[in-house]
Amino acid sequence: MKRALVCVILLAMPVRSVASPHAPRQAQGSRLPDNPRVRAALDWFTPNISWVNDQQVRITEIPAPPFQEAQRAAAVKELLAEAGLTAQIDKAGNVIGELRGVNEKEIVVVAAHLDTVFPPGTNVKVHRDGSRMTAPGISDNGSGVAALLALARAVQFAHLKPQRTILFVGDVGEEGEGNLRGMRAIVDSYRAKLKAAVVLDGSGTEHVTTKALASRRLEALITGPGGHSWSDFGMPNPINALVRGSVRFINTKVPASPRTTFNIGQIEGGTSVNSIPHEARLKVDIRSESEDELTRLESALRECIIAGVRDEMESARDRSKGKLEWKVELLGSRPGGELPPDSPLLAALRAADEFVGNQSRMERSSTDANIPLSMGIEAISIGAGGNGGGSHSLQEWYDSAGREIGLKRALLTILGISGVAEEKSR
Ligand SMILES: [Zn+2]
Repeated sequence: MKRALVCVILLAMPVRSVASPHAPRQAQGSRLPDNPRVRAALDWFTPNISWVNDQQVRITEIPAPPFQEAQRAAAVKELLAEAGLTAQIDKAGNVIGELRGVNEKEIVVVAAHLDTVFPPGTNVKVHRDGSRMTAPGISDNGSGVAALLALARAVQFAHLKPQRTILFVGDVGEEGEGNLRGMRAIVDSYRAKLKAAVVLDGSGTEHVTTKALASRRLEALITGPGGHSWSDFGMPNPINALVRGSVRFINTKVPASPRTTFNIGQIEGGTSVNSIPHEARLKVDIRSESEDELTRLESALRECIIAGVRDEMESARDRSKGKLEWKVELLGSRPGGELPPDSPLLAALRAADEFVGNQSRMERSSTDANIPLSMGIEAISIGAGGNGGGSHSLQEWYDSAGREIGLKRALLTILGISGVAEEKSR
């Protein structure tokens, strides 16, 4: 009861003071739900939740491993076209559905990544039990893609015309080694017109990502001549060198603040137990709130690999059969950035939260929003509602109960930053 009262008071408070003078007239958000067309769009969700759930199942059951999103993209394109949007697939493989605004020179992007972390051949059949669904990728990002489709349907159902053009995007390359290539392509294509981006990633309504966590992904490769485990014993061994270097690297001290992390996520090499391998490689993910720390850790990895190779060469009994070579390559780099606290996009999100009675905490994370944020374009990443867990695991689950709150929150945030046309301009 007390909470309801607080919401009413907050709704009555103008948030205009934090909106920039360049934001569309209705960016303040608090008056949006008074607009009959916005009301109609908001009211679309509850009676259509089973449609949204069905689309989520349909999308999740189309495999979308990294770099193999085409089949899922085609299905999303069809669904956006069915919703009445002009839909196309760009060179990067992104699906883009356009809802033309009064002002076509300004664009707001709402995006959900299509790809999953799961390799080809993973069983992606969805198990349903009431409102609970279980399948790899059901939440990350089946829930985001389903929300994207629901939002497109709701605005078309309500004949909503935005001030700024809204692009509904299913983007590629968010997971694994995709290096955010889909979002990079979107920002590249619409750079001059792009005013804001709202990313729908995973479930929930409890957070808003306003800070982009910078990260780098590196691969170290060590090669050598290789040989027989018995007759060539003493020859330098790439796996030995990699292990020596890895042990040095994992002893690297990282600060708690700025928070900095590293992870050896993959290690491979060798052909058989009785062969001296001719190569060994490892993949490392490093993240930090500070670009300087990232640079320091990247250098540390190189130094440790060099030292591992040197240690192995020094202890090798037989150097006549060749030496070890090494290289460390950057597989991907996600730039950092932050949304300013007085951003109109954040004001729109806050107004939406107030309307639906939600409270969200600000977070730093690595998402598609990294790209616009790193270029000074307003962007946030939010969950698509409902609840989920076990992300990136085969036990991943999603519960759609209450998902309409997340859908309404996303809709009001997007319309808050795009603005809604006056009735007469239609
Ligand atoms: Zn995701």
